[in-house]
Amino acid sequence: MSEELTRLSAADLATKIASGDVSAVEVTRAHLDRIRAVDGDVHAFLVTDEDGATAAAEAVDDKRANGEPLGPLAGVPLALKDVVVTRGLQTTSGSKILEGWIPPYDATITRKMREAGIVILGKANMDEFAMGSSTENSAFGPSHNPWALDRTPGGSSGGSSAAVAAFEAPLAIGTDTGGSIRQPAAVTGIVGHKPTYGGVSRYGLIAFSSSLDQAGPFGRTVLDAALLHEVIGGHDPMDSTSLDVPVPPVVAAAREGARGDLAGLTVGVVKELGGEGYEPGVEAAARNAYAKLEEMGAKVVEVSCPHFGYALAAYYLIAPSEASSNLARFDAVRYGLRVGDDGVRDLEEVMALTREAGFGAEVKRRIILGTYALSSGYYDAYYGQAQKVRTLISRDFAAAFETCDVLVSPPTPTTAFKLGERVDDPMAMYAADLCTLPASLAGLPAISVPAGLASASDGTEGLPVGLQIMAPALADDRCYRVAAAIEATLGGPLIAQAPVL
Ligand code: GLN
Repeated sequence: MSEELTRLSAADLATKIASGDVSAVEVTRAHLDRIRAVDGDVHAFLVTDEDGATAAAEAVDDKRANGEPLGPLAGVPLALKDVVVTRGLQTTSGSKILEGWIPPYDATITRKMREAGIVILGKANMDEFAMGSSTENSAFGPSHNPWALDRTPGGSSGGSSAAVAAFEAPLAIGTDTGGSIRQPAAVTGIVGHKPTYGGVSRYGLIAFSSSLDQAGPFGRTVLDAALLHEVIGGHDPMDSTSLDVPVPPVVAAAREGARGDLAGLTVGVVKELGGEGYEPGVEAAARNAYAKLEEMGAKVVEVSCPHFGYALAAYYLIAPSEASSNLARFDAVRYGLRVGDDGVRDLEEVMALTREAGFGAEVKRRIILGTYALSSGYYDAYYGQAQKVRTLISRDFAAAFETCDVLVSPPTPTTAFKLGERVDDPMAMYAADLCTLPASLAGLPAISVPAGLASASDGTEGLPVGLQIMAPALADDRCYRVAAAIEATLGGPLIAQAPVL
């Protein structure tokens, strides 16, 4: 019974809890048991919060007993990426520099989820400060892909994707700066959506690259992701970049898409997102998905976005530049770690020792890169130039959306790669973001939905691959509609085919 509960979708769990078929406490207990059973192998969680989760579940059961109305996800457990602050619960952003830091406040999305009765099981592993594509930059060791434990669950939100794919939680929150929701979703066979920039509050997210960072939902089904999106979305006066507009109707779109009728929709296949460096299995799954879109009545055309090829170079100037500024706040005084404070050393020395000990290699690499790109004399040549490229990429999108309703591509060029395979080759690691970066730079919504199984280049069979669907700003609902249609053609969630852990 307990094991069965962990296989259910969030939507089904919520229905069962609301009808009294099962209590929220039982559901929470089932997932905590599951975490105990498999997380030694998966390492999706940095910490679990058994007491907090149980109390949240009890509150939902009490509400129900009192006949009070329950939200659509009340009592449903969730894994929360450790970049999102949680009052009273350690938040590290995957870094030693924040080890042991207990935030005094909740992020807006944390608060919204608590108010909705969502049960936060614990904090999910991630690449340090969300820099990476494999979770191997976590200061606390990597997470493992439940489909093949010797492979990465993607990154930087790899703890979140692994938790959902391993049935440790039906839902998770990730953040996506350059692909960190979509790529982990793709390689673990689940759904992940990056909302329109400004569609979900960033208040209480530990900042990596403020003009790009965006939190979003993971689920095993498109509907589950949409339900979570509606809980976390919407305007927040605490975030000056938050958009004061209604949340797009993503749940309705997910339900509509599941009917499999895409008549009247024009889908643009981005010519530049394919070819050299893409695994044949990934490209074949994408082509197969395009054919299915056509079968469902969509018109599928090829579009060219000539500046997408520069997205990687532009991103790896803009993101490190913003990071170098954002990470200046870790000064050995305000948060977490402090090294060498012996009463003799001065502040600057303590700061240097702390940052040396507290940051990992990739974070240091980015701080150095970003500081260099922003320095006077180089600013125009690097940061300024990258911002111009960003504008050209936005214009490519605008031109493509004159004729297309959505654009599609693989979410990432390969299936899940092996742990260790790319750790010493930053450029190979960065290549995982090739398909996701354009929508990030343009601030557009994009989803990754499972598209089938494929072989890796080493011949390993049966690894999940996804399809990326990108839409104009605030048209997140289109992503969900098309994703739900693709999900319907697969005959249900792909994750059902994952090997049992
Ligand atoms: N892999 C990209 C990076 O390392 C994207 C990370 C992210 O989206 N947080 O920066």
